[in-house]
Amino acid sequence: MSNRADPVITLAQQLIERPSITPDDAGCQTLIADRLTQAGFVIEHLDFGPVSNLWATHGQGSPILVFAGHSDVVPPGPESRWTVPPFAGIVRGDWLFGRGAVDMKGALAAMVEAAVAWVTACPEHAGTLALLVTSDEEGEAVDGTSRVLSRLHEQGITVTGAIIGEPSSRARAGDALRIGRRGSLSGEIRIEGQSGHVGYVPAQANVVHRLIAFLNQCLSLDLPTGESIFPPLSFHVTSITSDCIGRNVIPAEACATFNLRYPPTLSNQKLERHIQTLLEAIPEPHELLWRRSAKPYLSSPGRLRACAREVLHIKLGHDPELRVDGGTSDGRFFSDQGSEVIELGLVSERLHAPDERVSIRDLQTLFEIYREIVERFLEYHPGVP
Ligand SMILES: [Zn+2]
Repeated sequence: MSNRADPVITLAQQLIERPSITPDDAGCQTLIADRLTQAGFVIEHLDFGPVSNLWATHGQGSPILVFAGHSDVVPPGPESRWTVPPFAGIVRGDWLFGRGAVDMKGALAAMVEAAVAWVTACPEHAGTLALLVTSDEEGEAVDGTSRVLSRLHEQGITVTGAIIGEPSSRARAGDALRIGRRGSLSGEIRIEGQSGHVGYVPAQANVVHRLIAFLNQCLSLDLPTGESIFPPLSFHVTSITSDCIGRNVIPAEACATFNLRYPPTLSNQKLERHIQTLLEAIPEPHELLWRRSAKPYLSSPGRLRACAREVLHIKLGHDPELRVDGGTSDGRFFSDQGSEVIELGLVSERLHAPDERVSIRDLQTLFEIYREIVERFLEYHPGVP
């Protein structure tokens, strides 16, 4: 197959062949490091516990442009739901199949090859071109990008702009740019009640009903979020359980887990306060535990977004759509440190699904887009401070 000769496709296949389920990197970063070393990048492996991180740089000083991505993938699920083995990197027609093809080994391969192509063509470029790859994006995201950025911060290194390779496109590579993400907050509630026979206990004393009433109040939460590109607050129940011991027995305990997605005009503290107030109406003993949270972010427009929009306009013939939806991403860690952030990757259609696949044409387009953004951002930058 002629695609085998394309370095982006070849690297994407080699990455897919390594079953790097979070936080196991399975050798992906060594493969990437070898490729970047050949092109003159300086490599640092920053491993924390079971998490592997790669920091690779070419050039010196500001501006610092970073390609950021992750080598880990979510599990493939039952192989019977796939029509190809999930870790084989099989090309069929115009498609490359495999777990991570879209999220985000395809984009990672395009980033690496774009970086190599650029420094080979322009070895004396201004500033620094860097890659940050972690194996902990799909998991807790504690020992990955955030730890590496803290380490860099201690060394006085501040990233000017970051391109996150998360799947961001709608129908073809580059038709949308993400410039922010909603925050995420998860909670777990448990209410204790009185067990009893359904024929004798009044409905209002049923602890499951109490839980449902509380969840309904959460669903109706309508907090002002101000004028913004962000969708309004969302609340989802993700599980409801009880210690059910029979169809005619009222349970003694009811539990639920839930998740909120919120714009940057709200904060997790504010949301926690509002929900805590709703709990005051529950007379039975109860317990609410707050779980993982991720802060929202919205990146201000800057030079990086301008360069990306110019390149995408030329490639697509129109401006890319600016979006802020989807799950959380490591973009928040860069934004927290004052870096400009854009998220630009492949089409998100088969994300985390069986038969995850990416169009070969999109991979090649993304490679070109990345290379041209670097060229604009580094070659024509007004200068080193
Ligand atoms: Zn991802």
